[in-house]
Amino acid sequence: MSKEQHIQYLRRSIEVSRRARESGNTPFGCILVDRAGRILWEQGNIEVTEHNCTGHAERTLMEEVSKRFSKEELWHCTMYTTAEPCAMCAGAIYWGNVGRVVFGITEKRLAELTGDDERNLTLDLPCTEVFASGRKPIVVIGPFPEIESEVVAVHEGYWK
Ligand SMILES: [Zn+2]
Repeated sequence: MSKEQHIQYLRRSIEVSRRARESGNTPFGCILVDRAGRILWEQGNIEVTEHNCTGHAERTLMEEVSKRFSKEELWHCTMYTTAEPCAMCAGAIYWGNVGRVVFGITEKRLAELTGDDERNLTLDLPCTEVFASGRKPIVVIGPFPEIESEVVAVHEGYWK
């Protein structure tokens, strides 16, 4: 898949993150794309409205798609997410067996946005480190400086 296609799908995940914020949740979103390029699932953060401390977009997406698709099918899918998955979400991606992750901004860049806001005390742990501790060759692509400002725009004025 070309860089332009990755960026196109990332833009879709940014749109999902905008909807998550509009619905009262934290501004994160992700989508799952199969090997034919079809979008199988879109998921925004649901932490606030569902009162779910594990309601990050990526972990919730993994829960939903694991009910609907086999691990074999999921291995050939790509998750596109606005910000690099945290350790919890990387764990869910690992156990759910998605083979590729493409993200917009790094966990470090996200930490700069969220600061000391108690709603997102961002973990300083790259998802590649989580995956490297496992036994599956999960491919990680990102960050994409081309769309950083678009990801960041959805966070504007949100974090204290
Ligand atoms: Zn997470």
